[in-house]
Amino acid sequence: MDRDLVKILSYDVDSFTFEQAVEYACSHSGQIVTINPEMIANAQKSVDFSNVIKNAELVVADGIGVEIGLKILGHNVKRIPGIELGKALLNKFSESGKSVAFIGAKQEVVDKAIENLKVEIPELNVVYSHNGYFSDDNEILSDVEKCHPDLVLVALGSPKQEFFIHSLNQYLPNATMIGLGGSFDVWAGAVKRAPKIWQKFGLEWLYRTIKEPQRFKRIFPTLPLFIIKVLKERVLNK
Ligand code: UDP
Repeated sequence: MDRDLVKILSYDVDSFTFEQAVEYACSHSGQIVTINPEMIANAQKSVDFSNVIKNAELVVADGIGVEIGLKILGHNVKRIPGIELGKALLNKFSESGKSVAFIGAKQEVVDKAIENLKVEIPELNVVYSHNGYFSDDNEILSDVEKCHPDLVLVALGSPKQEFFIHSLNQYLPNATMIGLGGSFDVWAGAVKRAPKIWQKFGLEWLYRTIKEPQRFKRIFPTLPLFIIKVLKERVLNK
């Protein structure tokens, strides 16, 4: 299965369906990036972060912002929420007897998330887990390496998790690794996802902003600026 890429503001995004993304991720090792407008804005300000995204093995549109942006540019790509892709990978890897590592969130959150997931996925084989509040990356990197997990879920928030995975790639060239933001909090039951109807209409970001108003400054002005840049790109490409 080959990647079928579309471009947005110079970043490649895979146009896979959810099922194709799962299949691709199960058969390719490397870094999966779940991209959103905030990450694109950060990447435009940081060459290092930009390179991390550009070197990823799979880049999925994790949100309505990138889905709308791609639509403006004439590409019909459905968003793939990272939390759902992460869960699907946990199921698939566990079904085939593969091992998993969890890195991120507070200790009680990551512990509870694993406990809950084990009820849902009895075959889940966790070979390593660590909270996301560490100061020495190298220590964690070499500890994970020793456990050689097949799948690594990293929830440190962006861009921390993407940089961490980029480094981990050198230690674990055969693992599939994905950055999952606040997903462990959801799996632990500490944070609720938006009700299905909000998700369906692409309004999960609005729900999260209402629940956590401090997120407001992350969305504004990033989201409208992103759409303006995409509109500019569309005009220039005509
Ligand atoms: N986090 C962490 N280490 C840090 C900073 C954050 O493990 O140094 C965790 C935090 O506990 C939370 C997640 O990273 O579980 C970030 O969640 P957020 O909702 O900010 O991520 P988003 O989904 O918005 O990228």
